[in-house]
Amino acid sequence: MSSSPDPLQTMRFERTASAAACDPAGGRAQPPQDGAAAGCAAWRPTPAIKATLAWHAGAGALTALAPSLWPWSLAAVAANHLLLTAAGLWPRSSLLGPNLVRLPAAAIVRRQMALTFDDGPDPESTPRVLDLLDAAGWRASFFCIGRHARRYPALMREIVARGHRVENHGDTHTMAFATYGSRRLRTDIRAAQDTLTDLTGQRPRFFRPLGGLRSPLLDPVLAQLDLQLACWTRRGFDSVERDPQRVYRRLVRGLAPGDILLLHDGYAARTSRGESVALVVLPWLLAALREAQLQPVPLAEAVPKKE
Ligand SMILES: [Zn+2]
Repeated sequence: MSSSPDPLQTMRFERTASAAACDPAGGRAQPPQDGAAAGCAAWRPTPAIKATLAWHAGAGALTALAPSLWPWSLAAVAANHLLLTAAGLWPRSSLLGPNLVRLPAAAIVRRQMALTFDDGPDPESTPRVLDLLDAAGWRASFFCIGRHARRYPALMREIVARGHRVENHGDTHTMAFATYGSRRLRTDIRAAQDTLTDLTGQRPRFFRPLGGLRSPLLDPVLAQLDLQLACWTRRGFDSVERDPQRVYRRLVRGLAPGDILLLHDGYAARTSRGESVALVVLPWLLAALREAQLQPVPLAEAVPKKE
């Protein structure tokens, strides 16, 4: 699961140390926090994680009391790791920690929903997405990659100047992210957090890993950095699917208030005519939202800040 030698040992440490080590600012001077002061929640393991820790303790005790049964203990621990891995491969799962996949009830009553764009900023695509959103009069959340943001600082400022929110999509955006140990996770997420905060003057509140893939080590790190995991209700797979019609149908299937939809302003697939699939789909999607009388809002406006 991780490059750290003993991930479960690391989690036990995180559990006791997270409140003391909490450092949302990364030890650096921060620009104004647009309203609420940045709080920090102690990590609270989910029932599945508590069960995992108990399971490991039980396997250890069994081995100590009856050493000849070690193959059973080993099998029990291996089975548990398989289950945790499966949970981490399921982006909408909440087994490993809280995971925002729909807006809260109060937002649903207001017929709000959220458009989220991953993998930007992109100098070709992002300005066109901003123009389409401006024309519709709606605002969205942009999950930006730290190293891309450093290349296009003016574009980052433009996103915020047009009323949108920037959120954290990691610094390196590598497929290896879900295999990182706690320290590398923290380093990657904090680097993006510092970059995005410095460039926009807004501190991201939400984090989304590449493809929603993660390990059990992510949740304690997010608690330390005062970030909330946010995945999605539906995605159109517009980064791999070249048929805009299919992407559109996936996004609007069961369209309802509270939906969090995922599109890409970076790394979008291309149609057979070389157009960005996301840019073809977005005008259709905006029309469908208007037809359904839904109101897209940034996640940070629809989700109350945690105490
Ligand atoms: Zn991504």
